[in-house]
Amino acid sequence: MNVQAFLNTISTRSFSLPIVILYVTEGCNLRCLTCSYREKLPNELSLEEISTLVDSLSAYGLRTIVYSGGEPLMRRDFPEICSIFRKYNVKQVLLTNGLLLEKRLDEVKKFFSEIIVSIDGATDETHNTIRGVESLQQISRGIKHALASSSRPSISIRTVLQKANFRQTIDIVQFAKSLGVDRISFLAADVLSDSFGRATRGAVSPNESLMLNEEEIVEFRRIVEQMVSQCSNEFINGFISDSPDRMFHIVQYFEALIGKAAFPHNYCNAPMVSAVITSTGDVQPCYFLPAYGNIRETDVDVLTTSSIVRSVRRDVKNYTLERCKTCVCTLYTQPLSALLDRF
Ligand code: SF4
Ligand code: SF4
Repeated sequence: MNVQAFLNTISTRSFSLPIVILYVTEGCNLRCLTCSYREKLPNELSLEEISTLVDSLSAYGLRTIVYSGGEPLMRRDFPEICSIFRKYNVKQVLLTNGLLLEKRLDEVKKFFSEIIVSIDGATDETHNTIRGVESLQQISRGIKHALASSSRPSISIRTVLQKANFRQTIDIVQFAKSLGVDRISFLAADVLSDSFGRATRGAVSPNESLMLNEEEIVEFRRIVEQMVSQCSNEFINGFISDSPDRMFHIVQYFEALIGKAAFPHNYCNAPMVSAVITSTGDVQPCYFLPAYGNIRETDVDVLTTSSIVRSVRRDVKNYTLERCKTCVCTLYTQPLSALLDRF
């Protein structure tokens, strides 16, 4: 039983921090349309700082660390970081663009039983155009090698739907099956926030190039209807992690972007159970909301129990933040799951 985590979900006070998304670097070897992370920053957290951080996080109820960025595998001392977390018996999840998966397979297998790989197209042309680098063949090889290896990790595909790939929604499901992965999930492209480096490094792609126009949205709705009937088994057996409703939620998001519908209601309690820590130590309530402090100045448990965080949690609970109403990447942990320590 994890009573602290359960209390987190039913109150605005912080009793623990079960999930942390850690950007180990902002360096990346892809050039995605939706993201501005490129070169690593000169002042990223050192191994020593991360080591001290793990101590505080562990004492504050950490259960799952999700490595993100940037591309985590770009960081040379990544195995050392994973070794530190492993000592504390924390579940480790890798979010990767997959380009270095084949090359770093031994170390990846050593630390991860769960890997999430981003793939944004069923064809080289679509994926590579969105991701800015010829990469799909190499990523696919990495996935296949990982799945064929002993002590095979669980691999999920994550696809960000947008103008350039919505027509391939069903094909991407089939492509994921052909790779042999365990599941696939979909998100809508984030058009409205200044996250993913846009605030600090500038937008890389005009929002219009990600959004669907009215005719395309009609087409997208038909594709999702077709997907729901054609992929019913994949929805039922969980190969597609999203429910059919969730897929229509993505259609409605694109409708809302052009003023043809209200934004679909989001259910999220990310700031109650998790935090994002950036590569320079800023602590954010989630991917999108502003940082409330930095671990170089204040301990993480002090930060998460501050009055600012309580006020953010209250706003999220009451659904008063505009950012929450237009959010594309929510996290909802059921109180019972928290109590049963299922993160
Ligand atoms: S979305 Fe991920 S893979 Fe693409 S540029 Fe940003 S960090 Fe790199
Ligand atoms: S809905 Fe989005 S912006 Fe709001 S707390 Fe959740 S993840 Fe953050």
